[in-house]
Amino acid sequence: MTILTGQVALVTGAGSPDGIGFAIAKVLAAAGARVAITSTTNRIKSRLKDMGEVGQHLALVADLTDADAVAQLVKDVNAGLGRIDILVNNAGMIQTGKHERARLFHEIAAEDWLRAMDINLNTCFHVSRAVLPQMLRRKYGRIVNIASVTGPLVTNPRSAGYSAAKAAMVGLTRALAIEVADKGITVNAVAPGWIETGSSSKSEIVAGKHTPAKRPGRPDEVAAVAAFLASREASYVTGQMLVVDGGNSIQEYKGPSGKGRMY
Ligand code: NAP
Repeated sequence: MTILTGQVALVTGAGSPDGIGFAIAKVLAAAGARVAITSTTNRIKSRLKDMGEVGQHLALVADLTDADAVAQLVKDVNAGLGRIDILVNNAGMIQTGKHERARLFHEIAAEDWLRAMDINLNTCFHVSRAVLPQMLRRKYGRIVNIASVTGPLVTNPRSAGYSAAKAAMVGLTRALAIEVADKGITVNAVAPGWIETGSSSKSEIVAGKHTPAKRPGRPDEVAAVAAFLASREASYVTGQMLVVDGGNSIQEYKGPSGKGRMY
């Protein structure tokens, strides 16, 4: 088990009780870290209560598409918990109260394209940029970006914005990793496949059942990988993307199942 005693983590997008962000926050806290969690609504305060030991941890509301709000967030985490050793950029995909439109590429409105970049890529850019100076000063840091298999490896119709943003997040991961590799800072990505969360649609759960593992993944299975990358022990792993998809992206045979199938 990873030991993070004495370390401080910031986990973004931890608002949903059954989401990936909150699962990561819980694993880091269980490993001994003090954890700042954030989302765009007050439901983040309920997550803080769920974590127990309220004085140990911190919940803050911020829209991470806004650079000024991010600067204030990082200030507040530093004031409350002293510093940030671990940053998990998990916010993305969906935001409470906002409807993300899924369109075929030629139907995407420019504002929807920009919104997809904002929520899925720029959130990661703003927060990483705001946290990095203190990591550089202390010559230590772990940045873990929650990307997706969608974009870097595979995709679906009506997912161009999300796919482009998540693929870019992996590019950002590598570009930043190489700049800070000799400064005690690692930057890695986790690429989940079909994970069952409160945001999963019925068809996504069905898709999860058609993976080689024959079930969707659980948020805690993504969290375990993020915690490893956030650990001191992962010091020589950087610029990598770890896939957590039950083997879905390695399936070559995609033909019909049942009698007469090839494999
Ligand atoms: P989720 O529980 O709905 O998490 C999304 C979180 O991001 C929410 O807490 C949301 O805040 C936050 N967020 C959205 N826009 C934000 C903004 N502008 N500023 C700050 N926070 C913002 O969904 P999830 O399924 O756990 O997904 C978490 C991450 O994993 C996402 O990046 C997603 O792309 C990635 N992922 C998920 C899957 C999957 O199958 N579930 C697969 C691959 C990758 P509010 O709480 O305020 O709404």
